Amino acid sequence: MTQKFDVVVIGAGPGGYVAAIKAAQLGFTTACIEKYTDKEGKLALGGTCLNVGCIPSKALLDSSWKFHEAQDGFAIHGINHAGVTMDVPAMVGRKANIVKGLTSGVATLFKANGVTSIQGHGKLLAGKKVEVTKPDGSVEVIEAENVILAPGSRPIDIPPAPVDQNVIVDSTGALEFQSVPKRLGVIGAGVIGLELGSVWSRLGAEVTVLEALDTFLMAADTAVSKEALKTLTKQGLDIKLGARVTGSKVNGEEVVVTYTDAKGEQTITFDKLIVAVGRRPVTTDLLAADCGVTLDERGFVHVDDHCATTVPGVYAIGDVVRGMMLAHKASEEGIMVAERIKGHKAQMNYDLIPSVIYTHPEIAWVGKTEQALKAEGVEVNVGTFPFAASGRAMAANDTGGFVKVIADAKTDRVLGVHVIGPSAAELVQQGAIGMEFGTSAEDLGMMVFSHPTLSEALHEAALAVNGTAIHIANRKKR
Ligand code: FAD
Ligand code: AMP
Repeated sequence: MTQKFDVVVIGAGPGGYVAAIKAAQLGFTTACIEKYTDKEGKLALGGTCLNVGCIPSKALLDSSWKFHEAQDGFAIHGINHAGVTMDVPAMVGRKANIVKGLTSGVATLFKANGVTSIQGHGKLLAGKKVEVTKPDGSVEVIEAENVILAPGSRPIDIPPAPVDQNVIVDSTGALEFQSVPKRLGVIGAGVIGLELGSVWSRLGAEVTVLEALDTFLMAADTAVSKEALKTLTKQGLDIKLGARVTGSKVNGEEVVVTYTDAKGEQTITFDKLIVAVGRRPVTTDLLAADCGVTLDERGFVHVDDHCATTVPGVYAIGDVVRGMMLAHKASEEGIMVAERIKGHKAQMNYDLIPSVIYTHPEIAWVGKTEQALKAEGVEVNVGTFPFAASGRAMAANDTGGFVKVIADAKTDRVLGVHVIGPSAAELVQQGAIGMEFGTSAEDLGMMVFSHPTLSEALHEAALAVNGTAIHIANRKKR
């Protein structure tokens, strides 16, 4: 007998698994189809984020930062020790355990919420039918009232540097090194390239980042990107801007990379090369020719502001649709879609999706940059507070960076919060909450912040917008 569900989700990443849980909570019979298997050949839910993305990269970032601190950051606290060593397989093994715990946690959540988990490759057919190809090759067709496509994305390959997952790796391979490469190349100074480059640099690799663009971190506020370039360079990342990789040749266990910059053609040799030039949507064998769902000119599934595709009852969310490729964006789209299937008028505020880069210092922002606002002709007031003036940051010996709050000069409404420094992601989230409720800089300035906290830097930056900061000389006078 043909199985039939109210909601069928294809893909169990942070978009798909959250959508499935939410749909089940709203009372729908729900199935989620996922094909990804771990190294042991077992179904692993959680998508890129839990298996080879957000979580494993943060596990390695945290381990490598602790090693770096143990080597260089303890003496100032009076902790004397010698001979700290790093067991790389143990670090990578810890990461694998975290991944296992979280992915099996999703399976538990599915059970707890009554989501039917189906292992296999899902393909949308005409008439909201979904074909599932099981691991044994058998094919089943299930029927759905509603389908949510959440197949995610995969790393972009570039012809000059074909990935072999040995010497030339993508982000997944870079999470699996069993020893520290002496000379590590990274193509692409985006979020993933900088995070993975930082991991291996902290463990002792000589890291060179080759970035085709002349501008560093173009999406960030210029004040933040300047500070980030300065600090990351000081930490030992050799970031070469305007360096476009044009070729590579693997010779045994090393690779000679050719790139062009302002001086012409250059070559450089690495022991490992990470290709981190972005990600592209996964739509291979996802849509039957007559299913009616269309792709846009860049290969993303075409959706409206509420993630509805061109076929009524079929939705698409996460990395496979327009917008930022972020786990929290995917999850919120999943919730919005489940709610809309229920008939609720849910919507998402795409203007307030925070961005984070988990380097040290952390980099995070929400809302618009000063440059973007000025280009739009918006007059702004800006308040900045350096962590060097924060008692809490001093106590932690972590004083690099600053908080920058940007407000509309006419209304004082906060339009952007940009942070580089300790706990930037958490501080920016406070800004995002305020901005969602239409906070003014004055409102933030009138709130009581615990002392001593890093959050006080946000408080002071908000006060500085109107020239009323207490713990720093005000550039703007009242
Ligand atoms: P995915 O997580 O890609 O999940 C899609 C799932 O669908 C996969 O499991 C796939 O196997 C499955 N699938 C695909 N096609 C089919 C099919 N036809 N049938 C069945 N199953 C199918 N984002 C952040 O917000 N914060 C971070 O710190 C962060 N760090 C990252 C670090 C790295 C190294 C990488 C690579 C990414 C990182 N991201 C981060 C991005 C984040 O992982 C993605 O934005 C997020 O996973 C997208 O979620 P998704 O549900 O759309 O797709
Ligand atoms: P992101 O999309 O944020 O992950 O960043 C990927 C980065 O890789 C972008 O800044 C691109 O400019 C950069 N990039 C893409 N192709 C090349 C190349 N051939 N050589 C160097 N950098 C590249």
